[in-house]
Amino acid sequence: MRTETAKPVRLEDYRPPDWLVETVDLDVALHPTATRVRATLSLEPNPNGRNGAPLVLDGEELSLVSLSLDNVPLTPERYSATPSSLTIAGPPRRPFRLTIETLVNPSANTQLMGLYRSGASYCTQCEAEGFRRITYFLDRPDVMAVYSTRIEAEKSDAPVLLANGNPVSSGDIAGTDRHFAVWHDPFPKPCYLFALVGGKLACVEDSFRTMSGRAVALKIFVEPGKEGRCAYAMDSLKRAMRWDEARYGREYDLDVFMIVAVSDFNMGAMENKGLNIFNDKYVLASPQTATDADFAHIEAVIAHEYFHNWTGNRITCRDWFQLCLKEGLTVFRDQEFSAEQRSRAVERIGDVRVLRAHQFVEDAGPLAHPVRPSLYHEINNFYTATVYEKGAEIVRMLKVLLGDDGFRKGMDLYFSRHDGHAATVEDFIACFADATATDLSQFLRWYAQPGTPELKVTASFDARARSLRLDVAQTLPPRPGHPVGEPMVIPLVLGLIGKDGRDLPLVTADGRRIERGMVVVSRPAETLVFMDIPEPPVLSLNRGFSAPIKVFAETSAEELQFLAAHDSDAFNRWEALQVLATSLLVEGVAELRSGGRLRVDQALIDALEATLSDPGLEPAFAAQALSMPAEADIARDIGEDVDPDAIFRARSELRRSIGENLGPLLEDRYARVSDRGPYRPDAASAGRRALKNACLDLLAMSGSSAAIGMAEQQYESADNMTDRMGALAALALHDVPARARCLEDFYRTYESDPLVVDKWFALQASIPEPGTLPRVQALTIHPAFSFANPNRVRALIGSFAHSNQTQFNRADGAGYEFVAATVVDLDPRNPQVAARLLSAFKSWRALEPARRGKAEAALRRVAGLETLSRDVKDIVTRMTDGGVRTTDKG
Ligand SMILES: [Zn+2]
Repeated sequence: MRTETAKPVRLEDYRPPDWLVETVDLDVALHPTATRVRATLSLEPNPNGRNGAPLVLDGEELSLVSLSLDNVPLTPERYSATPSSLTIAGPPRRPFRLTIETLVNPSANTQLMGLYRSGASYCTQCEAEGFRRITYFLDRPDVMAVYSTRIEAEKSDAPVLLANGNPVSSGDIAGTDRHFAVWHDPFPKPCYLFALVGGKLACVEDSFRTMSGRAVALKIFVEPGKEGRCAYAMDSLKRAMRWDEARYGREYDLDVFMIVAVSDFNMGAMENKGLNIFNDKYVLASPQTATDADFAHIEAVIAHEYFHNWTGNRITCRDWFQLCLKEGLTVFRDQEFSAEQRSRAVERIGDVRVLRAHQFVEDAGPLAHPVRPSLYHEINNFYTATVYEKGAEIVRMLKVLLGDDGFRKGMDLYFSRHDGHAATVEDFIACFADATATDLSQFLRWYAQPGTPELKVTASFDARARSLRLDVAQTLPPRPGHPVGEPMVIPLVLGLIGKDGRDLPLVTADGRRIERGMVVVSRPAETLVFMDIPEPPVLSLNRGFSAPIKVFAETSAEELQFLAAHDSDAFNRWEALQVLATSLLVEGVAELRSGGRLRVDQALIDALEATLSDPGLEPAFAAQALSMPAEADIARDIGEDVDPDAIFRARSELRRSIGENLGPLLEDRYARVSDRGPYRPDAASAGRRALKNACLDLLAMSGSSAAIGMAEQQYESADNMTDRMGALAALALHDVPARARCLEDFYRTYESDPLVVDKWFALQASIPEPGTLPRVQALTIHPAFSFANPNRVRALIGSFAHSNQTQFNRADGAGYEFVAATVVDLDPRNPQVAARLLSAFKSWRALEPARRGKAEAALRRVAGLETLSRDVKDIVTRMTDGGVRTTDKG
């Protein structure tokens, strides 16, 4: 276990490496407890580095066996080796070859970084700094080398041997039970993209012909017996490959593209060059085991990792501060892919829900940080919603600002100018500035300033001049380390809607017509004037969520109802309903806390009724419209003195009221969108199931025996996992015999399938009732649960901590104590998973005083422990250090 000794790493301290690595030849003899790694590096002094610098290679928990320079063994006085570094004092000032032999123990590797075992297989995870757990190396992304990898193993233990690149040779080792395989990757890459796999794996094969006519073999490796669940992943891969050619002109570059699904994985998936390694939950799917959401995630993650081949691998990051350069850009690309495969409006609504639930919450709390941080203690803690989701929003804003053609020109220039390089955010933005002759220097602030910008818009209509004036003021709340916010460049897409529901042309005072409805706000306060406006229009602001900001405007309930029915921007039709519901909920929470009642505005019921009855709206959109803001979203809007119980009660009452008011219509829609034919995973079918389950969810809120019976009936008759889980989720909210019966039936039906049992763990951990904590504690000793497997931990403990607002935030503090104790237990085994779990406390400062005190006490107990990993130490320190308060009112 690492102890907390590391100094912070600062962006401003970056300097080029003193040494370069031209080639890496690896020879790996796999063994469960003593894998021998012989690495031969061709090194040379970097002309841009410091002259005469020693050669210092990174390591972690390594034991050195032998070391030679140009085939001559080095005597001990020429070097010093510790588990965490290898220093060669006076290396030659010319190219030379260094051969390092180390021994590693994959079976003892519970951190799942470097070389480890997942089930019976060997696999690797090297991002961010895992390669140094395999051999001593210059473990930094700007050191790019050409890799050749030879792997050998017992044939019976690991019949399949894979590494990056193209296969070169393979065969038996005469006189032994062992065999070998050699792989060569001609594209220089940083070591975090290295991968190897060995094991007993089954392979599903297909092929793809690139736009220039090259044949690429596609292979998905899974545990034997699971081959039948790879079809959707394979289909998604082929669609992603075609899409990247069509949209960006990017072609795949090796002869083979491989995906390996493993069951022990810290993250979602990893884009290792030519050999993606996936958490099996993002590969395996069948109608009986995966929900529509699982299918959509598989499509998105497969595409995301594939798209990294260009945005991340061919062009990589200069240093880890530039993580958003590959992640934000690639999330944007996978979001656009999904939008074109499915429904653009529904995809956008889903992406914005995720952004608000995770990134906005992060930005408002003690873990807030810029999209490109300037300092870190542990880089693993920066794989965050801010880097990924807000990073994607920045790229989306570039597209809005520059238009489709300008954006494509910038991307083309980026690919041609930086292919084969390790780039920075400045390099990326310079391509768009150069390709479109646009000054983007102020736009760069999006990468440097944390916090969610707020835009206040005040409208005044002048009947005599037939003009509308908008006064726009932007502010950036103070955040840890950033007390003062500088104004941002905000592309604000807007519409002015007349009484007839049609958009009015946007004409400025000097007669200029505004293209695409976009105005650019870049100063603290600006005034916009629009002419030829015959009547006071209804404002539709930030259409398509053109900027990741909060907009405040005086909009009446009637205007929101009007927008929900008429806005030509589908996103803002949904947004109007959310704003209407949120304002009711925020008022309702205050009422409930002072002994009053929730008032349900008829405008919301009417607007939902109109949405459900509109034949022009797709079912997936209607399902999103029926889904009320999440408890965490309401908490974020309230901002301070948050009482999770009152929020839960207000939201439940609102949903019950919608269910009662719209009962017959919900039943009618439920019946009409229920498919009769066999299950299909396509977007239209998934949309109908989403609406069906949204109707069931609201109908079941009453808890009437008829509604419970309806859910039970759906559970029993479902021929697919989406409908089964939809019914189970509706039942889970009611402590009735049918719930216990169905939960037990579910486990018995799927007990041999860990990914489905995870759904069973997650659902039980999410039940908002006091019995949940003891139930979760009891489930930690269930035979299907294991603290060693990150998916199990995330399903049971993660769902409790991150998704169960009332029970994690129990008034007696027992939820905090349980999660904090679990973090401490997990930390020595897997620091990354432990740190991620601890981040569930990220909104603790916004709680009402009694809970805040209990959460703080739990955090301070963790902070006071002597031996914490760097990962957990960093999170708990940032969480409890002074900083600014989470609430920014006033
Ligand atoms: Zn990624």
